Amino acid sequence: MAGMYAVYHGPKGLKYIADKVHHATSTLADALTKLGFNQVNTSYFDTLQIKTDSKKIKKIAKKNKINFFYPDNKTVTLSINETTSLGDLNKIIAVFAEAAKKKTLIISTVSESNKISESLKRTTDFLTLDVFNTYHSETELMRYIKSLERKDLSLNQSMISLGSCTMKLNAAAEMLPLSWSKWGNVHPFVPMKQAQGYLTVLKELENQLTEITGFAATSLQPNSGAQGEYAGLMVIKAYHESRGDHNRNICLIPSSAHGTNPASAVMAGMTVVVTKSTAEGNIDVDDLREKAELHKDNLSALMVTYPSTHGVYESAIREITQIIHDNGGQVYMDGANMNAQVGLTNPGRIGADVCHLNLHKTFAIPHGGGGPGVGPICVAKQLVPFLPGNPLVKIGGDKAITAISAAPYGSALACLISYGYIKMLGEQGLTKATEMAILNANYIKQRLQGSFDTLYSGERGRAAHEMIVDCRAFKANGIEVTDIAKRLMDYGFHAPTVSFPVAGTLMIEPTESESKQEIDRFCDAMISIKKEIDQASKDDNNNVLKNAPHTLDVVTSSNWDFPYSREEAAYPLDYVKLNKFWPSVRRVDDAYGDRNLICTCAPIEDYM
Ligand SMILES: *Cc1c(COP(=O)(O)O)cnc(C)c1O
Repeated sequence: MAGMYAVYHGPKGLKYIADKVHHATSTLADALTKLGFNQVNTSYFDTLQIKTDSKKIKKIAKKNKINFFYPDNKTVTLSINETTSLGDLNKIIAVFAEAAKKKTLIISTVSESNKISESLKRTTDFLTLDVFNTYHSETELMRYIKSLERKDLSLNQSMISLGSCTMKLNAAAEMLPLSWSKWGNVHPFVPMKQAQGYLTVLKELENQLTEITGFAATSLQPNSGAQGEYAGLMVIKAYHESRGDHNRNICLIPSSAHGTNPASAVMAGMTVVVTKSTAEGNIDVDDLREKAELHKDNLSALMVTYPSTHGVYESAIREITQIIHDNGGQVYMDGANMNAQVGLTNPGRIGADVCHLNLHKTFAIPHGGGGPGVGPICVAKQLVPFLPGNPLVKIGGDKAITAISAAPYGSALACLISYGYIKMLGEQGLTKATEMAILNANYIKQRLQGSFDTLYSGERGRAAHEMIVDCRAFKANGIEVTDIAKRLMDYGFHAPTVSFPVAGTLMIEPTESESKQEIDRFCDAMISIKKEIDQASKDDNNNVLKNAPHTLDVVTSSNWDFPYSREEAAYPLDYVKLNKFWPSVRRVDDAYGDRNLICTCAPIEDYM
């Protein structure tokens, strides 16, 4: 949205908007000064600071349904934006006039005076790329966005089976409130009394998540799973410190953990000790016990993902949490895989003390393309007093750690989606969703048997809600996991998660949202790809997998020197013909691209 805002308005439009905001602000400042008020910001853009009896102003403003910001009894601050009309300005002036017991001034035009000091003004050009100077009508912008969308293999084309990311259905009904101004236009710091509807929803959502996780309380403040990890670890740290345990700073993390776990632990000032996995992919309990005992005087926490990122319910989980507690530590459960727990079990039951939930994974907030994250933390009783606070709004525990994000309830608007999801499904629906997610994963596991091996299974040969498919043996035929990922595009599918948490593998998670029909289409594609792998040879890189994906350019080119037909390239299975997705680019060397910075801008000399 922010990107398209810049594309639509371009440098001229943005400057026009900025001037409009500033002119309105300075016009207002002049009027307030004329009324005798002391506006103390000398160089400003959109915000004024008035030294006056703020209680008096507040009373009159409230009567007129205007919110200003009152940092203390002697200060009123207010900000103008491009939607502030002349009428709004006159209303603001009238409030101040009443407070000063003077006749109000009526302004009929906005002056063009500029109060930004010369030394701060930008003199260089900005947004000079074509993209910011082309699409300035709604029609043009719509076509531009559509052209981008067409390049994107998204959920409106086919299932996206990314594991550990839970790309689940985002029902339209859940999304509706996001475009209602009564939700969208509420400032995070409006007086609580004016946000009772929001507070009711957020409180209920907190209670629902508390119940789902089997804990005692929830904080909606963190804006992502990773931020939740940081928040949860800081809460654990505050708990230890409250007991005089200032030395507890060791965080045990199994080797199968998501990369955010060690990163968050380091940010929270802890020292990471990695514990081993067994050949079956489970946490090596002996190694864990040994390390917990070794560090028992300094043990702060274990971070554990359950079910594991290997897609297995570790049957030793309660033993594991007990070992940590016996050695004075707290258990942080990474809740990214809650899609395999909701209604069936919960973090409280397995002995964890705190977990984050990724509402943008398990609770239906769309997150493909970097949508808003919400990563609440849910905590057991002993950690409730430390839940994060906020300097302006009374929130969190009575020994709250400092704010984790600026807004007291984080991304409150996005919470409405999860609220709708939980309310509409109810207890039975949520449990059924978990069961379906597990069933769908095991159905895929079963259907792929004979073509692909699942790397790890539980003791009964089953997966949880996701599974890792081993592709390393195909190296014998010269085929890498990326070749499979690229070839899936020719079949109209987005690749599953590649090489996480095990290099050379695919992690597949179907979720409950997908129908059997769609899952079968995906399995058909995988099985067909396996046949292509069988035909590939290490000595010849010219095959349908190595050359994938096949763009429209390639397939329609007059030159065709591949040893297979155009039809095999573009329509490997019949159903592909019905709804063909054309990848718009062939391959970029992904690992090379990650390691080598390539500047696509003009050469550096141009900037001199
Ligand atoms: C996604 C994920 C995270 C991080 O969550 P974000 O919301 O992306 O910050 C942590 N752990 C696991 C296992 C995950 O899948």
